[in-house]
Amino acid sequence: MAQVLIVDDEELVRNTLRRILQREGHEVVEAENGERGLEIFRTQQIDLVIADLFMPVMDGLAMLNELRQEFPAAKLIAISGSVYERQPKFLEIAGRMESVRTLAKPFTADQVAAVVNDTLAAEPTEQPD
Ligand SMILES: [Mg+2]
Repeated sequence: MAQVLIVDDEELVRNTLRRILQREGHEVVEAENGERGLEIFRTQQIDLVIADLFMPVMDGLAMLNELRQEFPAAKLIAISGSVYERQPKFLEIAGRMESVRTLAKPFTADQVAAVVNDTLAAEPTEQPD
């Protein structure tokens, strides 16, 4: 069981991910933008972050960059490319960041479960302090 933070401005996507993750036995915390996501990560015990890239206030790339600098061992998954925002380039950029896995929308429940379980099972790039 892991505590997973979902950061996405679309409620529908958050709800879909939450259902999939809860079915896999995980606990879920949600944020609607990168700034809120950072606040939650800094103040709660979070094992994994799933972040949308296109969000108001603070976008996913900015949030993932901040998280990676502050918490080198944080486990991060970037998602993007919904039917409304097909921007595969940005997902590529996120994927080039150190140890950030990616998941393209639309995704299936099996794809989400697979990338989440892989990421949770992976060795952290650096040991946390
Ligand atoms: Mg979005």
